[in-house]
Amino acid sequence: MQAVTIELSHVGVTYKSGQANSVSALGDVSLCIPQGDFVFLVGPTGAGKSTLLKLLYQDVRPTTGAITVGEFDLAHLRQREVPKLRRRMGIVLQDYGLLPQRTVWENIAFACQVLGQRRRDIRVRIPEVLDLVGMTHRCDAFPTELSGGEQQRVAIARALVNHPPLLLADEPTGNLDPETGAGVMQVLLEANRRGATVICATHDKTAVDRLRRRVVAVEKGQIARDEPEGMYGYEA
Ligand code: ADP
Ligand code: MG
Repeated sequence: MQAVTIELSHVGVTYKSGQANSVSALGDVSLCIPQGDFVFLVGPTGAGKSTLLKLLYQDVRPTTGAITVGEFDLAHLRQREVPKLRRRMGIVLQDYGLLPQRTVWENIAFACQVLGQRRRDIRVRIPEVLDLVGMTHRCDAFPTELSGGEQQRVAIARALVNHPPLLLADEPTGNLDPETGAGVMQVLLEANRRGATVICATHDKTAVDRLRRRVVAVEKGQIARDEPEGMYGYEA
């Protein structure tokens, strides 16, 4: 797995809405995340967690400052280079985003086909990721036949199928009950054990306090804490 170091240096994001209105979502954020880290992004709603993740997958561009993800300079990345950047990462959002007309297997296969992978390789790789997320027995099911937790595990399998060195997750357990959410967290941990950097924005106090990983707290667009074996630090 190729090492991808993430570095943000004095990054600010201002959203422009309308003619006169602008919202400062992040201001002067500096952060370094080496390959193999597991980072929980915590902080109140509206603090800037999603914006931080969106910067990394280039849904949002920095207004000020510099960001590098591996060899990519995100402040100057050309639009046509964005797919190349995204090939380095798996992205998992709160709403699983599976294609409703396709089975579990087809949903994952689609992510491989987009990258032009050979059918033979796809047939080998899909069972591996289905096993990783514990969904082998449901490979022929459609998303509507699955619980929320199962859908999210499939979404993670899809995010991991191309062996990305980086996994970005924005409140992946936000719609799940605690027990199901714990299963999803286990899958993120397993991906990290296999070498992927994981950055997970979450309000899951129980998981953060139990797992004691690196915690980066964002408050009002600033890094308020960055602790190696941190705690959630807010009321649940
Ligand atoms: P979090 O994920 O921590 O809840 P966000 O990154 O979503 O925070 O939002 C940070 C701030 O930026 C909030 O004040 C939010 O309202 C604002 N914001 C987010 N997205 C947009 C947007 N597309 N346009 C304008 N303001 C936005
Ligand atoms: Mg958010």
